[in-house]
Amino acid sequence: MIRLSSWVFKYFLIQSAGRVLSSTRMVTRSIPTLALALTLAAAGGAQDVARLMEDPAVKAALAAAKRNEPHFIEEQVRICEIPAPPFHEEARGKEIEKLFRQLGLRDVRIDQAGNAIGVRPGASAHPNLLFEAHLDTVFPEGTNVKVTRVGGVLKGAGIGDDCRGLAAMLGVIQALDDGKVTTPGTITFAADTGEEGLGDLRGTKNLFNDSLKGQIDKFISVDGTGLGIENAGVGSYRYRATFKGPGGHSFGAFGMANPIQAMGRAIAKIDGFQVPRNPKTTFNVGRVGGGTSVNAIAAECWMEVDLRSAGKDALERLNARYQAAVLEAVDEENRRWGGRGPVTVSNELVGVRPAGNTPADSAMVVTALAATRLWGAGGTLREGSSDSNVPMSMGIPALTIGGGGSGSGAHSLNETFDTKDSWLGTQRALLLAVALAR
Ligand SMILES: [Zn+2]
Repeated sequence: MIRLSSWVFKYFLIQSAGRVLSSTRMVTRSIPTLALALTLAAAGGAQDVARLMEDPAVKAALAAAKRNEPHFIEEQVRICEIPAPPFHEEARGKEIEKLFRQLGLRDVRIDQAGNAIGVRPGASAHPNLLFEAHLDTVFPEGTNVKVTRVGGVLKGAGIGDDCRGLAAMLGVIQALDDGKVTTPGTITFAADTGEEGLGDLRGTKNLFNDSLKGQIDKFISVDGTGLGIENAGVGSYRYRATFKGPGGHSFGAFGMANPIQAMGRAIAKIDGFQVPRNPKTTFNVGRVGGGTSVNAIAAECWMEVDLRSAGKDALERLNARYQAAVLEAVDEENRRWGGRGPVTVSNELVGVRPAGNTPADSAMVVTALAATRLWGAGGTLREGSSDSNVPMSMGIPALTIGGGGSGSGAHSLNETFDTKDSWLGTQRALLLAVALAR
């Protein structure tokens, strides 16, 4: 049940805070600062969300979200025990498709990228909010996906990331139905593929570039646990650079350009890059390999490089410098040995996550912070790297939020999910969905 009394109390707190702020607005308008603008926007957002919670249908839906939580925790376990290794999310996707149908969504289907999609039409087709959680895990085929329990704590591969998001999404759909909520806009739900690692966001890319192209106005992804909010999508480029030469005897063929030494020059250049702190911009040579023997000039070697930034321009600059550094390194190595060899390089792009962000003073972020603070959670903004990167990079307002509860050990076999008060995550996601679908 909803503890209505505490909600009403919070509502009055928010109302009176709003009044104080609106009376100071005229005095301070001549010296506008970002902080003031944010405070005013936040107060307005809080009032707006609090008003929405007074709606009888929304109230009923929020109560249902809490009441139904035990059922959807069981669903979280059941879904998590259906394997969804990278590039093989089919079985779990089919199960979500079936549940979408049972929950009464329209136009339920699986698209060519394996995303399960279902629509909950509102009074009109727009705004159309895409509400997502991802199907895939980082665990390879054959991983033990059995979930074990100690009290309210669940342990299993992917139980939080992102079986929690899938369960919260299903809980939101059921609760909207239970509360008979009619939204002015439409909510399109999707369980998407390829969020993790070399999946390269292929499910979400396909939704925006193909199966739902041009139809989506706003986006939320429920990914993982807690009540966090990510409004900045860290973009990345990932490369595998392969250096090649004829190779030869270390003594007999001495005087020939060496792929490993060329790669060493490239790594030294990368290591010397100066990058901005804000937006945080990083580089890493993560893996190297190659060579034949201690007494051979290598014929081939390779390195894997990860470049990241929350800033689109900073990422593009870093990417350009990286490409130039690799070519310069090869050129220097070939000149050093008078062109004997010579060494060549091929730079294979193995992953792209576009960068972007949803501004802190945007309506969507203000609403998300207000909705989160209603439950007493801090509601701070973070950077992340997730499905939201795709819409953010296209300028479509997007956020990634946690699904509630608390988790540990994501991407490890010791991953846990503590179900304590996890219904708060379902309620927050529901309130946010209703607030954004208008
Ligand atoms: Zn995830």
